[in-house]
Amino acid sequence: MNSSSRGELRPCVFISRCLGYERCRWNAEIIDDACVEALKPRVDVVHECPEMAIGLGCPRDPVRVVRHDGDLDLLQPASGAFFGANMREWSRAFVENLPADIDGFILKSRSPSCGWKDVKVYHSPASDSGAAIGTGLFGAEVLRRFSNRPIEDEGRLRNFSLRERFLSAIFTLARFRAVEAAASIAALVEFHARHKYFLLLYNQKEMRALGSIVGNLEKKPLREVLPAYRAGLERALAGTPKFSSLINVVEHAFGGFSDSLSREEKRYFMNLVEQYRDERIPASVLLNLLYGWAIRFGESYLLDQVLFAPYPLELVRITDSGKGRDS
Ligand code: SF4
Repeated sequence: MNSSSRGELRPCVFISRCLGYERCRWNAEIIDDACVEALKPRVDVVHECPEMAIGLGCPRDPVRVVRHDGDLDLLQPASGAFFGANMREWSRAFVENLPADIDGFILKSRSPSCGWKDVKVYHSPASDSGAAIGTGLFGAEVLRRFSNRPIEDEGRLRNFSLRERFLSAIFTLARFRAVEAAASIAALVEFHARHKYFLLLYNQKEMRALGSIVGNLEKKPLREVLPAYRAGLERALAGTPKFSSLINVVEHAFGGFSDSLSREEKRYFMNLVEQYRDERIPASVLLNLLYGWAIRFGESYLLDQVLFAPYPLELVRITDSGKGRDS
């Protein structure tokens, strides 16, 4: 079943404006990034340039994050001017006005304003000051308000594993917004059933807790059930899918039709599981084989599992650096 027939929603994502929207970098450049460009037609985007928004103009002399008077500040070395207070005030107001259910953020890497984890933070305003790695001022506000949402930058999104995790999370949160919009227990039950194997990859304990929320033995009203489910879902998605969990999931799914398979087919499957365990093949090999068998044996519950396509297949790109696993 496709997303439109289920009434699913497109993810809503904030993207730093210089990532393909406007020549607003300090040197009037724009960043063309293939991953971000591929995603744009499939999401609803809020984009902004914090430095332009506080009136720095373009082109402009660059700014840097410095420690100053016991706090982080934004210094423009060429003019000696500090913009930290302006940036912090603007960022706080902007972030507070974003949709409360925004699904994720793609921030410009290493930017003293937008960067969220790889920004040079100078020890002082002095030109010869050394630097540590920290957060840009706008990025810090995003983290403060939305630490429970998927946040990435265009640099990290070139890694297959990180990109897969980010895309899976934003599309899952968008699917859940459709459940919130429907405000029906039937929609929640269906969502949980379709995401069962997918959530098992991330966090078995959280998946079971979410199941209890859906079971709702205490007969809580939906207005309490949905926020509780969202909080648990966000916690689950903040984790890293475990490759050992994927093996459990595929072996469990395989058990559903193994009696119908020949001895050679079973041996072939177990052989692939071992190859996956040894990091010689990607998860998609196992998943595609299982999906084919699910079609053959008409396993509709399995065919409906989000695990097989947590985000649109058109966004899958394997020509990048992400060959390894981070779990
Ligand atoms: S990184 Fe952020 S502040 Fe810098 S140009 Fe891009 S959008 Fe503007």
